[in-house]
Amino acid sequence: MMPEWLWPAASEKSPNAPGDDELRMIPRWSMVLAIVLFAGMQYIFHVVMPHHKHELLPLRLMMGYAWGSLVASYALLLGYVSRDVKRRGMSAGLWMLVCVVLPGGIGAVVYFMLRQPVLSRCPNCSTSIAATYHFCPQCQFQMAPVCGECHRGVKITDVFCTQCGHDLARDGAPARLRVYGD
Ligand SMILES: [Zn+2]
Ligand SMILES: [Zn+2]
Repeated sequence: MMPEWLWPAASEKSPNAPGDDELRMIPRWSMVLAIVLFAGMQYIFHVVMPHHKHELLPLRLMMGYAWGSLVASYALLLGYVSRDVKRRGMSAGLWMLVCVVLPGGIGAVVYFMLRQPVLSRCPNCSTSIAATYHFCPQCQFQMAPVCGECHRGVKITDVFCTQCGHDLARDGAPARLRVYGD
């Protein structure tokens, strides 16, 4: 049996676990697009392109495979970005355009450099919360410990506020600790 205090820690891990969740981020349309593009590349290299010289067959197979995987992975990447923008509260249209227009995957690189942190959910009312929020905009649930005097963010281990010097012990336990304790 798992002790009760371990449960929140165990359930907290699952939304951030890489692997399964990240794979599920790729929508079906982009998988279909990837297969179609891969097949299309094979068609171009083996049917459309003239191939009188039969000794070049290994090279043609290799080129078809290389270009096919390149365009297919680009389609999967686009699919991933189209879902990833939503859970980060960014503009889907703008970033899809950037990824399509900038050639050679540069758009995707720019996207991965500039993307915002994943939105979390308010544990109280499950509103989407940006990483910088200290309070839920809908129910005032306290997401991070703040100074009771100036309301700027503090660390949970701080004794005094680093901004205004307020004695944090006088605030009592932060609201989020009180909620988890219930
Ligand atoms: Zn809330
Ligand atoms: Zn303060």
